[in-house]
Amino acid sequence: MNKRRKIYEGKAKTLYEGPEPGTLVQHFKDDATAANGKKHEIIEGKGVLNNRISEFIFQKLNDLTIPTHFIRRLNMREQLIKEVEIIPLEIIVRNIAAGSLAKRLGLEEGTRLPRSIIEFCYKDDTLGDPLVSEEHITAFGWATPAELDDIMALSVRVNDYLCGLFMGIGLKLVDFKIECGRLFEGETMRIVLADEISPDSCRLWDVKTGAKFDKDIFRLGEDNLIEAYHEVAQRLGILSENENAFTVGPRLVK
Ligand code: UDP
Repeated sequence: MNKRRKIYEGKAKTLYEGPEPGTLVQHFKDDATAANGKKHEIIEGKGVLNNRISEFIFQKLNDLTIPTHFIRRLNMREQLIKEVEIIPLEIIVRNIAAGSLAKRLGLEEGTRLPRSIIEFCYKDDTLGDPLVSEEHITAFGWATPAELDDIMALSVRVNDYLCGLFMGIGLKLVDFKIECGRLFEGETMRIVLADEISPDSCRLWDVKTGAKFDKDIFRLGEDNLIEAYHEVAQRLGILSENENAFTVGPRLVK
């Protein structure tokens, strides 16, 4: 068996050296973490579903000429991506008050925000990913003002697309987190969307019932996470009704 060179291991994904220079393999694990890693469980099948859901979204964004690191899915748990230099920020886009924003500003969960809001957290687990301002980002050189402009423009485009996509399948996009990277191509550098977009990194509420279809299910200690992620995949048309994420492939004709 070939031993691949591990480049980076995160909480829910591992990156390996890719088959060609400038590429990496992004592997989705079944690990679920919350509260900055203090709560940790293995939820069998989560990685497979997130790989499929993130592939679907990144492919659509590529088709819309929104630049991403995604090249193609390789197998059940892995996708081929372009190697980028990750900007150490979690970019959070919010449409409806929930989670840390609701707490911080004393807003009732579910309140529609006057407009979509973009927040930045500095990616540092030991500090608990603190909220930072554009001033911190540019002063400490995590991104330049021009890069921040690109990141914000990209975030707005991704939010517009995702709001429509999820509304079309009966889900409200409450908020989500993205990460961006610098893609170097010859003499040029551009900001592209990196990491993943999946129910692990979004809040999705059913339009009719208000039921949660995201990682809050795990954060709240409930046990129906796989069913919920599976339903998101089904509603997106990634998996047909009787299909299981583990057995996608040629189907026996009876
Ligand atoms: N989020 C994430 N990873 C993080 C922190 C937040 O994917 O490390 C997502 C989270 O799932 C939600 C959004 O970003 O969709 C906003 O999260 P919030 O700041 O409210 O933090 P939380 O309440 O999730 O701790």
